[in-house]
Amino acid sequence: MGGRQVTDWQGSDWAGRHVTVAGLGVSGLPAAKVLHGLGAVVTVVNDGDDDRARAQAEELQALGVTVRIGDGATLPEGTELIVTAPGWRPDKPLFAAAEAAGVPVWGDVELAWRLRGPDAPPWLAVTGTNGKTTTVQMLASILKAAGLRTAAVGNIGVSLLDAVLGDETYDVLAVELSSYQLHWAPSLRAHSAAVLNLAPDHLDWHGSMEAYATDKGRIYEGNRIACVYNTADKATEDLVREADVEEGCRAIGFTLGTPGPSQLGVVDGILVDRAFVENRQKNAQELAHVSDVNPPAPHNIANALAAAALARAYGVPAQAVRDGLRAFTPDAHRIAHVADIDQVAYVDDSKATNTHAAEASLAAYPSIVWIAGGLAKGATFDELVAKSAKRLRGAVLIGADRALIREALARHAPEVPVVDLERTDTGAMLAAVREAARIARAGDTVLLAPACASMDMFVNYNQRGDAFADAVRELGSASA
Ligand code: ADP
Repeated sequence: MGGRQVTDWQGSDWAGRHVTVAGLGVSGLPAAKVLHGLGAVVTVVNDGDDDRARAQAEELQALGVTVRIGDGATLPEGTELIVTAPGWRPDKPLFAAAEAAGVPVWGDVELAWRLRGPDAPPWLAVTGTNGKTTTVQMLASILKAAGLRTAAVGNIGVSLLDAVLGDETYDVLAVELSSYQLHWAPSLRAHSAAVLNLAPDHLDWHGSMEAYATDKGRIYEGNRIACVYNTADKATEDLVREADVEEGCRAIGFTLGTPGPSQLGVVDGILVDRAFVENRQKNAQELAHVSDVNPPAPHNIANALAAAALARAYGVPAQAVRDGLRAFTPDAHRIAHVADIDQVAYVDDSKATNTHAAEASLAAYPSIVWIAGGLAKGATFDELVAKSAKRLRGAVLIGADRALIREALARHAPEVPVVDLERTDTGAMLAAVREAARIARAGDTVLLAPACASMDMFVNYNQRGDAFADAVRELGSASA
């Protein structure tokens, strides 16, 4: 290593350095190109060997990058740094070899953070088990309403590397970070950051709930202005307490109730700020109405408060919070209202792929026919069903692991009628919607909030949500 520490790596320091990029794909390909462009000697290693990998490999080899396809386990000789795809599990042999050799491992976020220029915009960062994408988009909308040049980037489809190295100039970035990305981003220091909530997810990857929480908590490390936490989720507050932040950085809570000093919350249907105001013991600033939040479901108001807290930490005026929230429309399949048929609302929350998300979704409606099921990913459903039982008019279960939900319903909501759909063909969703319509009464909501992944029956949650919306439209045209 010639005495140079990896922490010193900047600009020209890359020339001739041996960097291994672990994993082709959405992060690996651009990372390899950028590092090669900086003069590093790049080797890409990839586990899988398929047509896509081969095409990407050819593209890189044409540039002079070495690519080893089908061998992601062996540490290439002379490696001084590994830049890994965020999804690579930390227990892989490659990382054990790296540790033994004293080779640092960075993820895509760490690489972007290190390569950002001296005048780089600050990052307002968001993580959490659920609500990240929505919150980051709300945040970007608020920042734009304040006239700032910004973008929603990170684990949201827009690569941080592009944002950091591209031609576009930004005042500030709204950054979504997954727990994987945080795991591999040891030196990231955000202006301010929020952890929205913490529920068991991806535990097979992280190894334990503690490890998952620790990785999420990294988002607060070195924050300068505000660490935003959820007062209803003590684990998020604990992470703030454990974080090593810059002198003067404040802990800011958000609550669906009346806010205390240094909190944002809700009073009489109005989102208010008691954190970024003069004399917060006595004063509060009105930000927006609950009805400005789309949709105004409780968990989404929490997302709006978290976004507002980060925007206010950056100094955005109250009016921009309101304007930004009004301008925001959620992505598809996130509590999307599809249609009203015979006074029953049909809502697509196909993105509720875990129990924590489904619980929030179910809490948003008083009387529900619930369409659920799919791949459980090791989850249990007792808590979800017990908490939601009183809202259930009925349940229609689909997919591979539907028996787990059926058994939880039998234990905690034995009086709720359940339809168990065995079929998994393309007509299954229409059958599910028809069964739900049969059970529903005027004023009810038929809610697709599967609490499971979709890949047993669909390509992804988008296709599942589309199938639901198509089925609802077919039902509507039949009843018209
Ligand atoms: P993420 O990017 O974290 O997956 P999204 O904003 O895409 O989050 O929302 C995913 C799903 O999680 C939504 O469809 C909804 O069911 C649920 N959800 C959104 N916000 C929250 C929240 N604050 N708490 C719990 N569940 C939420």
